[in-house]
Amino acid sequence: MIIADNLHKLKSKIPNHVTLVAVSKTKRNDLIMNAYDAGHRVFGENKIQEMLAKYNSLPKDIRWHMIGHVQRNKVKYIAPFVSLIHGVDSIKLINEINKHGIKNSRVIKCLLQVNISKEVSKFGISLNKIDELYDYSLSLENISIKGLMGMASYTNDKSIINSEFNSIGLKFNDINKIDPNFNILSIGMSGDYEVAINNGSNMVRIGSKIFGERKI
Ligand SMILES: *Cc1c(COP(=O)(O)O)cnc(C)c1O
Repeated sequence: MIIADNLHKLKSKIPNHVTLVAVSKTKRNDLIMNAYDAGHRVFGENKIQEMLAKYNSLPKDIRWHMIGHVQRNKVKYIAPFVSLIHGVDSIKLINEINKHGIKNSRVIKCLLQVNISKEVSKFGISLNKIDELYDYSLSLENISIKGLMGMASYTNDKSIINSEFNSIGLKFNDINKIDPNFNILSIGMSGDYEVAINNGSNMVRIGSKIFGERKI
């Protein structure tokens, strides 16, 4: 099976302490099951409805990561089961997630999405806003901010990617030193995961290198 082969190849290149999130967005259930049957359990989706449909029809021991933008009015759909929300970028969203954590009697784990690329992006907070959101989250009991997530610029220039990952890595280390529970740095995709790991990534989100190129 090509997907199982891809997974094994990738896992041999990734250190053990780095969690591999297999990004299955747009991919059919039977393809996800190829990875599942090869032993993989951590999958990432970027659309709430798609993740919900897959959660309902696939094995319940899959750990689902929401890696896309989360609209506040849709938090309720994933709050009962989501394993980690990578894209938290506002106090309002933190409050909404905490509210649904309370309703579901669970602590929902999240990452703050940081805008580290020079490209114009609607999503993610700047590096200097991290402390404010992190400090605020400490007052709430049903959300836990576990670390940072970022995406590098879409470029072949490895020095740009390296400096962007370096900036988020340094900030991550600062907080991790004070709070050992703040221990997830989600950086690195198919094209740049090696650079990310060199900058301290311990969670990579990889789609095309496992499932092949996406049409959309
Ligand atoms: C699609 C996506 C990925 C995976 O991208 P690949 O280049 O296919 O590995 C990772 N992170 C986010 C946020 C994504 O939307």
